[in-house]
Amino acid sequence: MAKGNARGDGAAAGRVARRGVDKDAIQKAVLTILRAIGEDPEREGLIGTPRRIANMYEELFSGIGEDPMALLTVGFEEQHKEMVIVKDIPLQSLCEHHLLPFHGVAHVAYIPNGRIVGISKIARLVEMLAHRPQVQERLTSQIADLLMKGLRARGAAVVIDATHLCMTMRGVKKPGSRVVTSANRGIFRENPSTRAEFLTLLGRPAG
Ligand SMILES: [Zn+2]
Repeated sequence: MAKGNARGDGAAAGRVARRGVDKDAIQKAVLTILRAIGEDPEREGLIGTPRRIANMYEELFSGIGEDPMALLTVGFEEQHKEMVIVKDIPLQSLCEHHLLPFHGVAHVAYIPNGRIVGISKIARLVEMLAHRPQVQERLTSQIADLLMKGLRARGAAVVIDATHLCMTMRGVKKPGSRVVTSANRGIFRENPSTRAEFLTLLGRPAG
């Protein structure tokens, strides 16, 4: 049993050649949107907005084209075969339906099969996948599937607990509502007591 709270980011591992975002095109698009909503993009407060948004999107979508499997190839052999849990990994992403943020925490567990990975790599994996247009359900599954594949783990489990601005500030406007998703793979799916141990360690009722 090993537990850790991951806060740091990872190294540059996992970076592959990517085309990058077209910041000129983003700036033009933002200008178009500002005009379309009836604003004056030349006024003082807005004059730098297209440039700021282009820079921001470059950062927030930096996970597009990066290879998450590369993060897991830097694992190492270790005869640890008990559950590893990384709790409370901060998560910020953008929902692909509205490009509005959703944010919360991810809890990630796996049971190694002779191969483990640095704790910071797990946090980096979550961050890389979150820095793409996402839906929370897919993000949850992707993390679990990558751990299974990249580490040949005996099992993987992921819980994400997040608030979606597209639910709280627009549309149905339900402030305070949270979306909880989970994915269980391998032994976490097959063995209810393993899943229960994970949920207990998260401080959640095993249901
Ligand atoms: Zn949305």
